[in-house]
Amino acid sequence: MTRDPRYDVLFEPVEIGPVTAPNRFYQVPHCNGMGRQYPSSMAEMRGIKAEGGWGVVNTEECEISHTSELGGVIEARLWDDSDIPALAKMVEKVHAHGALAGIEPAHLGVGVSNAYSREIPMGPMARPVDMLDPVQARAMDKADIKAFRKMHVDAAIRAKKAGFDIVYVYAGHDMTTLMHFLSPSRNERMDEYGGSLENRVRLMREVLMDTKEAIGDTTAVAVRLAVDELEGADGLSANGEGREILEMLAELPDLWDVNISGWENDSQTSRFSDEGYQTDYISFVKGVTSKPVVGVGRFTSPDTMVSLINKGVLDLIGAARPSIADPFLPKKIEEGRIEDIRECIGCNICVTSDFLSHPMRCTQNPTMGEEWRRGWHPEYIAPKANNDNVLIVGAGPAGLEAARALGQRGHTVTLAEAGDAAGGRVLQEAALPGLAAWKRVVDYRTYQISQMSNVSLFLQSHLSADQVAEFEPDHVLLATGARWSATGIGRENRKGIACKDGAHVMTPDDIMAGLTLKGPVVIFDDDHYYMAGALAEKLRGQGHNVTYVTPAADVSHWTHNTMEQARIQARLMKMDVTIVPLHNVTEVQADRLILSCIYTERTRDLPYGTFIPVTMREASDALHTDLGALDGPWKSVTPVGDCLAPGTIAAAVYGGHKYARELGEPKVEGVPFKRELPLLAAD
Ligand code: ADP
Ligand code: SF4
Repeated sequence: MTRDPRYDVLFEPVEIGPVTAPNRFYQVPHCNGMGRQYPSSMAEMRGIKAEGGWGVVNTEECEISHTSELGGVIEARLWDDSDIPALAKMVEKVHAHGALAGIEPAHLGVGVSNAYSREIPMGPMARPVDMLDPVQARAMDKADIKAFRKMHVDAAIRAKKAGFDIVYVYAGHDMTTLMHFLSPSRNERMDEYGGSLENRVRLMREVLMDTKEAIGDTTAVAVRLAVDELEGADGLSANGEGREILEMLAELPDLWDVNISGWENDSQTSRFSDEGYQTDYISFVKGVTSKPVVGVGRFTSPDTMVSLINKGVLDLIGAARPSIADPFLPKKIEEGRIEDIRECIGCNICVTSDFLSHPMRCTQNPTMGEEWRRGWHPEYIAPKANNDNVLIVGAGPAGLEAARALGQRGHTVTLAEAGDAAGGRVLQEAALPGLAAWKRVVDYRTYQISQMSNVSLFLQSHLSADQVAEFEPDHVLLATGARWSATGIGRENRKGIACKDGAHVMTPDDIMAGLTLKGPVVIFDDDHYYMAGALAEKLRGQGHNVTYVTPAADVSHWTHNTMEQARIQARLMKMDVTIVPLHNVTEVQADRLILSCIYTERTRDLPYGTFIPVTMREASDALHTDLGALDGPWKSVTPVGDCLAPGTIAAAVYGGHKYARELGEPKVEGVPFKRELPLLAAD
């Protein structure tokens, strides 16, 4: 296949100061939970992006000094020369495919507590640090500012030694000292570095000039600036100081990478924003500077990309999440394979790995983070090791991904689904408010399967154990999913919630299936991810009186890790959902619930019409049990995904993929992946 000439513009080279990007696909810096701790994993992952056609591939934020460190949070690190080889490894991998490698040096100032180095954090003012630790930062004096400038110069020189082509000066996400100096609310210094905008920009200008002087002859110097913080006059804004800063520094850097801040605004989920959600804020930039401009907005559509270039909004298409979900997105456009793009669903499971300090996971791309340690490539997979056929029962995310990957390996696969359509839980959940983009998990896989003559999908095909046996498959893969429990069993109520005569309990599955309920509705969230909040929004939107009870202090508590919690809470409050935090539900009577304070155990009554516990899911593993009772002709029966243990959609996709990778391969004894161990000091 050849590429559509409409997309030619995306493959034009772009000069960035002294270097040239081979095309307009630009992987902006993004965290990945590998960084300094798993540098080979990070390098391989970045190299695969370059292989997939990204013309520029950046690191994540890179700590430049022990005086500014994130403790256990895993980012890149360039404190001294000993950190150079790990980053040089990434550069080598990126260069091997003809892409440019960029690095984002960061001094995080009042954003960190320095729990590891025990240095006193420092920033423009003496203030408590942003982390909720009992730590205050001190105000930087002139000597600190001098030292701070030198840290940036040293980092730039080390970055150049490591081979990087682009070095950032980073003032984004409200995370760096440079941004803190720009901020009117953080910087009320009385000296020449504070007060007026001119003064607040001084340090940024100095660091930019220093960096250019140190390495700018051969290395491009990029600025990442948050042009709008969505705080109106209290912060930088595209109509105010964000624009003015850009005007003041317009021609100084070789590239402008512009976005909205903080990170929760920059990386919004699809529940709260559509593709291109930043464009209105950044579209002024190209009118202010002649330098190339890169911006992000969860871009996955080549038509949108082309229109942004042609309209003069961007020169380079920035992407973090779309490049995680599909490292080969540019290659697929180049080869005229648009339908093969695995579009990001905007769920932010990738972001959770940064908060939880483990290698990145992605709902759409099960190979993310496994490139080096398991040798998994997002596009290639070993051909089948034998001619065994596989019957897969259930076409949810686990069954679909297993079928797709087994099909890619060349196995003959039969996929039987009881329902009218493939998709399982994803189909149901994508119908909840704001979650429509999640259906991409299904769309990508059903399209891929439709192109494979060796994979057959049968709908409306509920299989019993006898029917499975009649089929005489070599292998049976059970991907029959899970159902929400009506018992209330969960973290808070290990033995369930007592139900008295006349109790009216419905499960999330009942609600998603559209069964009729009677109000008022009480939702009990002991699950803490998105389901309870999404149901509350759905039912309140339908006009029901909704009360949301949770043992946590806030709604959908785990979504702090996807950076959605504040938005979910605000949305429910604005919709007049009554929120009862820090309470358990201990009993369901005919017309009332008994709530109990989780600290005092004081009880109270809450009248209700329908009670919806969102506490746990029960694996739909009856078929597994039934098959176990038969002495079937198969070589193996394996449950995967939610029918093995209910979890995230990402976990189900991964489970299906892993099964497909391992079928027919020798079993690995011991730890099934390579590890990156710490160096043992000589003394
Ligand atoms: P997972 O997330 O593990 O993929 P899902 O719950 O999303 O699980 O999907 C499971 C799918 O399996 C559902 O679409 C369901 O209709 C289907 N299924 C369950 N039991 C059977 C069965 N006995 N025969 C065929 N399909 C089944
Ligand atoms: Fe996109 Fe979700 Fe993958 Fe992140 S985890 S890249 S948001 S699909």
